[in-house]
Amino acid sequence: MKILIVEDEATLAKNLKKGFEENSFVVDLAYNGTDGLHQATHESYDIIILDIMLPQHDGLEILTRLRHDGIRTPVIFLTAKDSIEEKVNGLNSGADDYVIKPFSFHELLARVRVCLRRASHTTDVILKVNGLTLDPIVRKVFRDEKRVDLSPIEFSLLEYMMRHSGQVVTRTMISEHVWDSNFEGFSNVVDVHIAKLRIKIDKKHEKKLIHTVRGVGYVIEERD
Ligand code: CA
Repeated sequence: MKILIVEDEATLAKNLKKGFEENSFVVDLAYNGTDGLHQATHESYDIIILDIMLPQHDGLEILTRLRHDGIRTPVIFLTAKDSIEEKVNGLNSGADDYVIKPFSFHELLARVRVCLRRASHTTDVILKVNGLTLDPIVRKVFRDEKRVDLSPIEFSLLEYMMRHSGQVVTRTMISEHVWDSNFEGFSNVVDVHIAKLRIKIDKKHEKKLIHTVRGVGYVIEERD
C-alpha cells in the first residue's frame, strides 16, 4: 500500500513516514502544498494524509483540486483546528476522515486501515493463488498452510503481484507501486527482490507460482 503524507512539520512528517514504513506501507513525503498537489496528481497512491495548514496551497484547496480533477484517492486530514465548523468544512470538501493533532500514531493507523477497507472492497479479501494465500489486513502469508515470513518490501511486492495475478507486471510497474519515489533503481533491484520471494514462496514446491516473462516482467499464476 502506497501512501502520500503532505505535512510541513518536518519532524512529524518523518516520524509518520517511519511509523507507516514499520507497518509495511510505502511512503512518499511532501513538505508544502505545491509539492503535495504535484505528487498527488502525478503519482498513484492508495491513500493521502493531508495537513490542512500548509505553505503555498492549504489542504482544503489541494483536496478540492484533486476531487475536481476526478482523483478519488481517500484523503485523511490532519489538523490542529478542532472546531466543529472546520470539521464540517473538511468533510464537505470530500475528505474521508479527519484526525485532530495531537493524535496517537495508532489512532491514525487504524483510521487509515478503515479508509482503505472502505475504499476498496478487495482490501478485505484474502488473496489466493493456488495454495498461496495473503491476508492484507493481518499481513500474513501462507503457502500450503505453512506461514511464510516476508520482509515489508517482499510483502508489498507479493501483494502487488497477487492483486494482479495472471497479469504480467513490468519492472516499472513494480518499482512505481512497491518502492517510494526516491527509488533510483539499481536496475536489478526488482529482480533481486523477486529472487528472494522465489526462494521463500516457490523453492520448496514443485508447482512454481512466480514466472518470468522474458523481456517484459513477471507474472504470478498457477500453471500446469
Ligand atoms: Ca501544518
